[in-house]
Order: sequence, then structure tokens, then C-alpha cells
Amino acid sequence: MDKQYINSMIEKTFIDFMSTDDFLKDPFVINKSEGVWVWDVDGKSYIDGIGGIFVTSLGHRYPRLVDAMKKQIDTLTLAPPLHSISDATLRFIDRLGQVTPENLNFVKTYSGGSESIESAIKFVRQYFKEMGHPDKYKIISNYLSYHGATLGATTAGDSPHAIKFGPPLPGFVKTLSPKQLRDRFSSWEETCRFAANLVRQRIEAENPESVAAFLVEPICNVAGIITPTAEYYRIIRKACDDYNVILIFDEVLTGIGKTGDMFAAQTYGVTPDIICSGKGLSSGMLPMGSMIAREDMADAFRGENHRCFGHGHTYANFPLGCAVATEVINIIEELKLCERARVIGNYLRTRLEKLKDYGVVREVRGLGTLLGVELEEDPVNHRPFPNDRMLGNALKKTARANGVILRISPDWFAVSPPLISTDEEIEELCNRIEKSLLDAIELNRKN
Ligand code: PMP
Repeated sequence: MDKQYINSMIEKTFIDFMSTDDFLKDPFVINKSEGVWVWDVDGKSYIDGIGGIFVTSLGHRYPRLVDAMKKQIDTLTLAPPLHSISDATLRFIDRLGQVTPENLNFVKTYSGGSESIESAIKFVRQYFKEMGHPDKYKIISNYLSYHGATLGATTAGDSPHAIKFGPPLPGFVKTLSPKQLRDRFSSWEETCRFAANLVRQRIEAENPESVAAFLVEPICNVAGIITPTAEYYRIIRKACDDYNVILIFDEVLTGIGKTGDMFAAQTYGVTPDIICSGKGLSSGMLPMGSMIAREDMADAFRGENHRCFGHGHTYANFPLGCAVATEVINIIEELKLCERARVIGNYLRTRLEKLKDYGVVREVRGLGTLLGVELEEDPVNHRPFPNDRMLGNALKKTARANGVILRISPDWFAVSPPLISTDEEIEELCNRIEKSLLDAIELNRKN
């Protein structure tokens, strides 16, 4: 593809959360993908160590998903959501309910993670109104979190971009993330215990009769794959139970096998009242998300006066997405890919831990195949790299040069290969990560 054409067309769009000028310095334009591999328009191949962006649970264009999609295209692509539902959607609701924890069997699908979060926020607010608690509307969430790009989800999250769209919506309250507290305590367990008790205190301070939900990512991506203890979630679960507060797990990123179970809730052994899913649910085949709630909560939306959930989207319960996502679940179960995530994760973690030998890694975090590596100039004394020499910035360049795609921030990077990765592919990924890190250290030294 002609470079001039590429550049002029890039100027007619936006890349997510990125300056167009920065992107234009070395535009990454791709035109082919298969399994764990992606090709750019110059024919260079890259191993996709992050699965799209935590999306391609089964790799790119997994053949059975392509078939499932084609089959659905040949029969029905749209069931108008105002007055109908497709058979494919009904089958998906049934299938998803079989792999969710406990009675989280009420399902509504959307076009992505943000819509699912937005829907959950509105669902809990209406739920409490229907249940005779009209003043329970506040949503508590963690600082440093990300819950999506729509206005409600942006307000619930803690994006540095949020200020550009101010004022934030009312009715959202934040509490400190364990990451912000970690240097005050001698152990991560203690840090998480303290942070979890802050959630209880925040509910009490806000007046429990005004608090509808605590919304949390079981593993927080944008803060650097922050992975709380199971006790953290047990304490929060108890606080929510004590004060009739709905616990929402934002599993848009953590769900669909990565943590070694279908959902991180199962890995942690703590059941929320609502799970929001997305990304890996359709393995990147098409936009898809879903809100999964405790079945009994939906009863509040039935009854006299044509009571209903006052919310909808044109592509809600979309048959194509449901057909693909049903097949994703079938494949994960048939191929035992949750178990595979644990095996891949153990090896990956061992290799990432080995990177500590190079003296720039503070910590490796995460569960299963969802792992993050924190970078510091002096990991013993916890001294970060100076702002003008953040190692992640160099790593962005060297990873690209070495043909490996990661999620890279200035002071950490994440890895999350597809669950279908072979041992050889994981080996290749680890080798390319190691080489990229060494090259980045060298590049940083020169600058
Ligand atoms: N929640 C989390 C934890 C996410 O990581 C994301 C996407 N990065 C979202 C919500 C929003 O999902 P989407 O981009 O599909 O709207």
C-alpha cells in the first residue's frame, strides 16, 4: 500500500487514545492475521503476545469460529431488538449460563465492553428503584481503574483523559486502589486487606442507603495488571452483603479463560452479583459484550404496568455475535483451554521472572495467561526510570522491531497470548520479549 495514501487516510481518522502525529511517525498498518500471527502491509510478521488487545482468546480467525459465523450469516444476521430475539441468542444465553458462577444466568448482550458496563450501571440503579430503594444510586469504583469509553464508564473509571470531557457525571465515588497503598505496607496481603476495608468504610461514609454498587476489575489492567488477593474480594463481598450493595466484576478483560477459569470470579472463589464480559467472548471476530446478572435480580424488572428495563441498543442480543460466542465457549470447554491457560501461564511467568536477571524488573503480576511486568531503574530500592528515559518507551520501539506485539506503558508491559498458543509459539514469544527488553535497555543507555 502506498505510504502517501496510508498517511493521508490516517489523517482522516483517530487511533484510540493516541496522537495522530505520534502514530504517523511509524504507522502500524496490518492486513492479515492468523492464529497468533499478524502481518503488516509490508509483509512483516509479528507474534501477537497480547491477543489483539486481550481479545483473541482463540487467536485470530480460528477456523471453527469462521465456520460458525458463516453458518449464521447464511440463516439470520439481525433480530430487531425492539420486538424479537433470535434462536442463536437463546442458545447463547443457555450456553453462557452453564459456565458462569452460581446463579449468574441472566444475560443481555451488547456491542462491546463499555456498553455492558453502562448497562450494568443502569440495571443496578433501576433495580434498587424497583425494589423500593430509590436513593441507592452511587457507584463506587477504584482509582486507577478503566471501565470503558462511554460517559458513565469513563466516570466510573479513572482515565487521565476524563478531564477533557468534564464535568464528570454525578453519582460516582472512588476509593483507593491497592496499587496506591502498596508502599505503606510490608506485604501485598496487608495492602489488599487495608484497601478492601476502605471499600467498607467508603460505603459507610457515603451512607449505605445511597450506594448501589461497587464496580471493580478483578485484575486491573491500566494500573499495570494489579492482582489483588482472594481475601481482598472476600472482604468486599462481605461488605456488599452487609449493606445491600451490588458487587459488579468488570471481566471485560479478565474473562473467557485467561485466569485459568472461564471468569476470574471463579479463580478468586468469589461470586459477584453481576459480571460484565467482552473482548475474548467473540475472540475478535466481531464486536461483542454481555452483562450477566444474578437471575433473581431480573425479577425486579417484571410485574404490573408493563415494567421493563428501560434500556436497549440496536445491536443488543445480536445473533451473529451470539453464534460466535457460543462456539467460543464450546471450543474452550472441548479443548480444555482453561487448564491450558494455567500451563501456558506457569511457563510464561517463569520466563518473565527470569527477566529480573537484567536488573530492570520490579515485579511480575497476574494470573494464568494474563501477566504484567513492572519496570524500574532500580528494582531493589524501587526507583523508577526518569520521565525522559522510561524503559517502556524504548521497549515500544524494540518490540516492534523484533516483531512482537505487547501492551506497553512507560513503566510496565503486559502479555496475554491466546489460549490456543502452542508450546513453540510461547517459546518464540518469550524469546522475542527477552530480546526486545535487552534491546530496549541498550537503546535507553544510548539516549
Ligand atoms: N472494561 C475493561 C476492564 C476494559 O479493559 C475495557 C476495554 N479495554 C472495557 C471495559 C471497555 O470495553 P470496550 O472497549 O469493548 O468498549
